[in-house]
Amino acid sequence: MKTIFEKDKGISGINLCDGDLECDFLKDEFKRKSQLGLPNVSELEALRHYKALSDRNFCIEKGFYPLGSCTMKYNPKVNELLASLDGFVNLHPLVEDSDCQGALELMFKLQEALKKITGMDYITLQPAAGAQGELTGMMIIKKYFEVKGEKRSKVIIPDSAHGTNPASAHLCGFDIVPVKSNEKGQVDIEALRSLVDSDVAAIMMTNPNTLGIFEENVLEISKIMHENGSLLYYDGANFNAIMGYSNPKLMGFDVVHLNLHKTFATPHGGGGPGSGPVCVVECLKDFLPTPVVAYDGNRYFRDYNIKHSIGSVKAFYGNFSVLVKAYAYILMMGKNLKEASENAVLNANYLKEKLKQAYYLPYDEPCMHEFVLSGDKQKEYGVSTLNIAKALMDGDTHPPTVYFPLIVHEAIMIEPTESETKEVMDDFVSIMLKIADDAKVCPEKIISAPHNTPVKRIDETLAARHPNLKFVQE
Ligand SMILES: *Cc1c(COP(=O)(O)O)cnc(C)c1O
Repeated sequence: MKTIFEKDKGISGINLCDGDLECDFLKDEFKRKSQLGLPNVSELEALRHYKALSDRNFCIEKGFYPLGSCTMKYNPKVNELLASLDGFVNLHPLVEDSDCQGALELMFKLQEALKKITGMDYITLQPAAGAQGELTGMMIIKKYFEVKGEKRSKVIIPDSAHGTNPASAHLCGFDIVPVKSNEKGQVDIEALRSLVDSDVAAIMMTNPNTLGIFEENVLEISKIMHENGSLLYYDGANFNAIMGYSNPKLMGFDVVHLNLHKTFATPHGGGGPGSGPVCVVECLKDFLPTPVVAYDGNRYFRDYNIKHSIGSVKAFYGNFSVLVKAYAYILMMGKNLKEASENAVLNANYLKEKLKQAYYLPYDEPCMHEFVLSGDKQKEYGVSTLNIAKALMDGDTHPPTVYFPLIVHEAIMIEPTESETKEVMDDFVSIMLKIADDAKVCPEKIISAPHNTPVKRIDETLAARHPNLKFVQE
């Protein structure tokens, strides 16, 4: 497909300031001396170009998107409508509190709802994504020990963790100490005990972890850490598994981030915008970023008066439109949030049971909202997990997350979410079983996939380092 610049026909879509409408009020020095360099195509051609591009894109509205760890659930369209209300879209972030009571009320009520859902005591809505929430949480932990006058330089992180966990802790100046997982895919308690000393500031955990397995010993872990004076950080990316059933406060955590764009149904992928609120327990409230949204019984206001605040972590007050969508989702779901988790877990277990004969399942346990297969059986026929992912694209399905978590060889991480029907999942199962079959009988077919997509295989490293946006398919 050609780029829009290659489609330039010298035809202009509209005429600005022609003839009588000459913009005389502009001084000559401000007028453009050369052509603007825009592609000259008609309005209809521009529309067709971008529509054709968007048709080639894959999205949740087009098909099954079982991207493990990313929670690609249905995002109700009414949320978009609400987030684009005039009063929200045209509100300047610097207006006085008295002129934005509605927006502040929404943020305050969202804070209250998220505190209830997580069980935590205080919250900031500022961070723009999960990873920034992690960084914020680690900055809070760092400042907490600084103010206490304790020097603690280490953060323990399970070997199954998402890469952003060690990255965030390291960015804060902590040394990372990995702790290994046991044969059940959970933190090895004895290994953890041997790593805990007075230098350990915190442990960062995800529960259920990235294998989709609930950490049964989480209370024991909390006890070990707290007896050592250390804190517990909860990566809430997998919250979709536990809403209404458990919460990080009950599990003994001190800091939590949520990914509103995952659990609370706002569109993501392609870079955002996202939102990663951070919730903390009482003893950490004096370290939250400023401002937080507060209510004095009469009016809502932005509170900048936080004793040991780590400062602001983002311009203004967070990605407001994402907050509106998440709040709308929570209001609409109400008590059914619990049912969403229930169905997400049920769907994942259904798929796991259907696929575990054809694909190796390294941790054969009841799973939470996602599970991790291995492509090891198919590897025997020369078919890699990457090949399987590419073959799925021929089946009009978005591939699952692959090669993560790192502790599973040839990992295939599947998360159906609660929004999919049994029919959709059954279709996915038959595509996956057919691929497993083909891998045995005609491996070349899978190895050379995809066959039906607009773009075949690309060198992903080269594409990231040296993007050639003028690429034309033969
Ligand atoms: C998605 C994810 C993150 C990072 O969140 P972003 O919003 O993408 O920055 C961290 N941990 C886990 C387990 C995740 O799935």
